[in-house]
Amino acid sequence: MASSPVIVILMGPPGAGKGTQAKRLAERLGVPHVASGDIFRWHVRQDTELGRLAKPYMDRGDLVPDDVTIAMVIDRLRQPDCAHGALLDGFPRTVPQAQALDERLAEFGWCVGLVPFIRVNEEVLIRRLAGRWICRKCGAVYHSEFRPPSRPGVCDVCGGPLYQREDDKPETAKRRLQVYFERTLPVLVYYERQGLLVEIDGEQDIDEVHQALWRAVVMAVGTPATAEA
Ligand code: ADP
Ligand code: ADP
Ligand code: ZN
Repeated sequence: MASSPVIVILMGPPGAGKGTQAKRLAERLGVPHVASGDIFRWHVRQDTELGRLAKPYMDRGDLVPDDVTIAMVIDRLRQPDCAHGALLDGFPRTVPQAQALDERLAEFGWCVGLVPFIRVNEEVLIRRLAGRWICRKCGAVYHSEFRPPSRPGVCDVCGGPLYQREDDKPETAKRRLQVYFERTLPVLVYYERQGLLVEIDGEQDIDEVHQALWRAVVMAVGTPATAEA
């Protein structure tokens, strides 16, 4: 392999802007965007065995059990397009997931390069989730107030129809935030101890957050060989 793989893990509570940022950052880094929530939603839509298992947890705003989640993400990282690394979004979300990831990466001779944590306060998160619209065709993310599409309900990128996630309704969104505080905050501590955590102010506008993330990545891992010029 020409260069060592870049593994970047975007952390942050639901609604922090991980997906929005990951799409751009992954493109710029030249590595795939691996989002556990997107993979689960794909399985639910296809009505696979894994989708049927995950759905009740997702509907309640709870985490899908670690064993199936870990197996699913590791399998994704084994695909050939991840040979130069990946940008992880939504995984790991528990300490056992983080430990399993470290173990499996070590088997490939890889390690985590950087863990940017996108910080956003709770009231802003609820507003972001309540107004989130997603393209059914290409996954582009919009917001009715903060990032409206040019035509309501229609994706600017591909013309596909936009939809709102069932689990973004305030009741489920609040449950997801509670789960985040209980189970995912310890993961931040885990990476902080390894000196991998950098905090990014997620309340800036989308472009400013992107610039801050890019600067952090370049500082930590240099300009990746796979990066766009
Ligand atoms: P958000 O982007 O709003 O944080 P996601 O799309 O990442 O939400 O996740 C949606 C749902 O998928 C979660 O509420 C959870 O049920 C499930 N999920 C996603 N990633 C994980 C994970 N790493 N561990 C367990 N469950 C997960
Ligand atoms: P996550 O993947 O962390 O759950 P998303 O990227 O889906 O978060 O963003 C949640 C919502 O907030 C979306 O509707 C998105 O358009 C909006 N959003 C993302 N980043 C910002 C930002 N910096 N300022 C305002 N709204 C934002
Ligand atoms: Zn689209």
